Amino acid sequence: MKIDHIGIAVKNIDSSLKFYKDTLGLEFKGTEILKERGLKVAFLQTGESKIELLEPISEDSTISKFIDKKGEGIHHLAIYAKDLDQKVESMQEKGTKFIGEANTGAGGKKIIFIHPKTTNGVLLELCQNLE
Ligand code: ZN
Repeated sequence: MKIDHIGIAVKNIDSSLKFYKDTLGLEFKGTEILKERGLKVAFLQTGESKIELLEPISEDSTISKFIDKKGEGIHHLAIYAKDLDQKVESMQEKGTKFIGEANTGAGGKKIIFIHPKTTNGVLLELCQNLE
């Protein structure tokens, strides 16, 4: 298992890219609109992992609420799961609570979030590429 990406809540992707892409020099992989989640996301490559910038595009997106409460910053860590369904099942057997059901995230990945109560206050996402 490896860290697939680190999600960072930002107010504005374009101005954040000035730092992450232009100043820090990370490889920009493109942006995507996730209408249902009220988000615009951008990915930057950092070795095997990525940084995911998350900008809210609707008032009721979870990222708007996060920024209102805590300000910009690290929102979640995403761990790559080879077989997400199997992983979720085995973790549920051990008492892990998840937030909702698995759904489709950026890049068409299958994703699910683990409840932060289980993970010492860290919002952890499990994700799997669907080919
Ligand atoms: Zn993510």
